[in-house]
Amino acid sequence: MFDYCPNLEKLKPYSVDEADWDIKLDANESPCNLPPLVRERILERMDYLAFNRYPDIEGRDLRVALAEGLGLTWQQVAIGNGSSELLLALCQLFGGPGRSIAFPTPSFSMYGIYAQVTGSKALSIPLALEEVFDRDAVVAAVRKEDAKLLLLCNPNNPTGAVIDQEDIEYILTQVSCPVVVDEAYYEFYGKSSIKLLGEYENLIITRTFSKAYGLAATRAGYLMGNPEVVRLLEKVLMPYHVNAITQIAAETVWLMRDQFEATIRQIVVERKRMADALKELPGIEVYPSQTNFLLLKVAAHKICLENLAAAQIAVRAMGTGVLTNCLRVTVGTPIENDAFLTAMRKIAGGQL
Ligand SMILES: *Cc1c(COP(=O)(O)O)cnc(C)c1O
Repeated sequence: MFDYCPNLEKLKPYSVDEADWDIKLDANESPCNLPPLVRERILERMDYLAFNRYPDIEGRDLRVALAEGLGLTWQQVAIGNGSSELLLALCQLFGGPGRSIAFPTPSFSMYGIYAQVTGSKALSIPLALEEVFDRDAVVAAVRKEDAKLLLLCNPNNPTGAVIDQEDIEYILTQVSCPVVVDEAYYEFYGKSSIKLLGEYENLIITRTFSKAYGLAATRAGYLMGNPEVVRLLEKVLMPYHVNAITQIAAETVWLMRDQFEATIRQIVVERKRMADALKELPGIEVYPSQTNFLLLKVAAHKICLENLAAAQIAVRAMGTGVLTNCLRVTVGTPIENDAFLTAMRKIAGGQL
């Protein structure tokens, strides 16, 4: 009925199951609300907020705080409404009609959506699940299509797999387009490409406050890269795009980030506990993960999802192709994880 942008005709919006689940292990959020001290500090600072004024247009305080902690200059740092806004902005900046945006698959499903939304050609580079990262396949695809932007997710959502820093450096030397390393799960992995920033002008790194730092509600993310890229992004980002509440929350969380270490460590320990327990069950394959979630291949996928739903446990069902029969489960609190494991044991007891 409406005559709208033809790029969007075939596009399926990102969808999530918004039912009221008892146990939410489907969105890779932190299982814990903010540490009480952090929450208190944010609310205190909100007391002084001039709600009638636009926020600082440069987001200077947050950028300076991030830069100081990261050993960068604030001109190398951009902030966004979640890293999602920055990823979309990068696609707007470097993509467009007739231009390709490349990304390995399976990876974060939004990359393909951002490519389409910006009228760019989505160049997905299919990689096998079990094999080591095929850097030459990525380089070859980027060169063949003259891609204008390459998006790498490290560690990768939804597989949990990592790309060695050596391979990232190799790719940076072999392609001329900007290379984004999406480090949304960096805090659970501990290895970053940040060291390569000084050497490679085409490297861009994005991170988020939504996962390890438990700030999904306010939407905050940041980008590290060449100051020229940071400046160019201003062309596509709205003025005052990051609201003052988000800036205050993110800056406070960042300055108090040691308060999150215990939870991050617990999630890493729980990840191993869950993986070990799941490996004991018949008909389930567990993929190695350096994130706060596990990818599982379950022979009786459909029955498994039905049973988890009946137990009021939300997980993310994965689609087709190499992810057929896969589901992604977020590492929750020990109690939530126990509930998940109990449900899975029960399902496996019926031989799946
Ligand atoms: C969750 C996630 C993001 C973005 O999260 P924001 O909340 O927008 O910061 C980006 N990339 C990957 C791979 C993610 O899983």
